[in-house]
Order: sequence, then structure tokens, then C-alpha cells
Amino acid sequence: MTWDISKMDEWTYQQFPPGAVIPDAGNSNDYITGGWRSERPWRSDEKCTQCLLCWIVCPDSSINVADEKVTTFDLDHCKGCGICAQVCPVDAIEMVPEGCELPEVK
Ligand code: SF4
Ligand code: SF4
Repeated sequence: MTWDISKMDEWTYQQFPPGAVIPDAGNSNDYITGGWRSERPWRSDEKCTQCLLCWIVCPDSSINVADEKVTTFDLDHCKGCGICAQVCPVDAIEMVPEGCELPEVK
């Protein structure tokens, strides 16, 4: 089946066909997939106990760890789902709207 996409720039969202074709599954590492994020995670180093629970549950493997400690977020691939903030037992992660200033380091 082929789609006539010659006037795609004029489509409303209702005209886009549902679903997608993924010809090369598992290739998200090759692309910057964080661009659709509306909120970004921010971690308080002071509150964090380095339990690594956020690292285990992140569906995009976007929590960087070095020497068995959380260091930074991979914002090229974090989609802003907020799961890391939800599971953190000490509320060390806040979801901050994109475009806003990050909280001061605590
Ligand atoms: S917001 Fe979601 S994708 Fe981003 S680091 Fe947290 S769990 Fe991973
Ligand atoms: S879940 Fe919270 S306390 Fe545990 S490593 Fe992640 S930010 Fe730190």
C-alpha cells in the first residue's frame, strides 16, 4: 500500500494515518529522540542516595552512570516520561518544564 503524501504539509492531524512502520527496530540510538520532550528530569545530588532505581526503570536508558553512581541524564534520548521521578524513593528527581530555568543545585 502506498500513501499520497504530496499535500502532507496541508494535512490536519486527523488525516495522518494511524500507526507507523519501523523498518529497523532498535535504532533509536542513531537519532535524537529527546526533541519531543515537554519536561526534563532534574536530580538533586544532595537528596540522591545513589540507589540506582531510576537507572533500572528508565525505558530509554537515559540515565548515565559512572562508578556505580548516577551522573547525568542523556537528554538527547530522554523522552520526559517522568518514571524516574515517580520511582525515586527520596524525591530527588523533579520534572521541570522545558524552556524553564532549572532549580538551583541543592
Ligand atoms: S524522564 Fe523517563 S526517559 Fe527521561 S530519564 Fe526519566 S525515566 Fe528516563
Ligand atoms: S532513584 Fe532517586 S535516590 Fe535512587 S539513584 Fe535515582 S535519583 Fe538517586
